[in-house]
Amino acid sequence: MRKKVTAGREQLGAFAPKFAELNDDVLFGQVWSREEVLSARDRSLITITALIASGAFEQLPVHLQRGKENGLTGKEVSESITHLSFYVGWPKAWSAFMLAKDIFKDEEMDIPQDLGTLFDTGEPNPYGEFFTGKSYLYPVQFDKEIGLSIGNVTFEPGARNNWHIHDVGYQILIVTGGEGWYQEEGKEAQTLRKGDVILTQDGVKHWHGAKSDQWFEHVAITTGQAKWLEPVSEAIYGSLESGG
Ligand code: MN
Repeated sequence: MRKKVTAGREQLGAFAPKFAELNDDVLFGQVWSREEVLSARDRSLITITALIASGAFEQLPVHLQRGKENGLTGKEVSESITHLSFYVGWPKAWSAFMLAKDIFKDEEMDIPQDLGTLFDTGEPNPYGEFFTGKSYLYPVQFDKEIGLSIGNVTFEPGARNNWHIHDVGYQILIVTGGEGWYQEEGKEAQTLRKGDVILTQDGVKHWHGAKSDQWFEHVAITTGQAKWLEPVSEAIYGSLESGG
């Protein structure tokens, strides 16, 4: 249940009590709530459109925020304003973008749908301190008794883990999407793509992660204990990326 709007009474109740009542009880109370006829998300979209078209930029931030809460994404709002620019004029689009980019700035980068995902992307990686850049972990299976874990790891472009070893154990990576790197110490880095499988032996120092302009995803089947070492330097990562 949406919480009751009281902005009218709070801001105009004393000076314009009827207007405040119509705003809070009729517009937001009765009209906006008719979601069985038109969803809150769609109501937000048409309201945002009307505000931009009429140049009501003072009201726009509240409705962009409301639209976000009603399920509109930054990508959709950006596309809507781009579309609207042809109908309402370039300056209005500019003004709208300047307000919208702040409201949607914290939005997670969309994960591309062509990763061939087997599993959920999961949550921001709890081992993030041992990574450069942003990654996500979905724990598929964990068995303490036999010391086995299966996790789905998704890397944003440029994200990679630190150099590490799998101590008294091993790791099998099964690449499920995107494009990344795998490198063992003293060896050339190799490109990984969907369907590639990597076996890392006990104690071998290595790292894995995304290419700088590509998302990357692999399932990691791991035994033993991961021992985390230093981050992969920009010098090493950058030299791969420049093809050097
Ligand atoms: Mn590893």
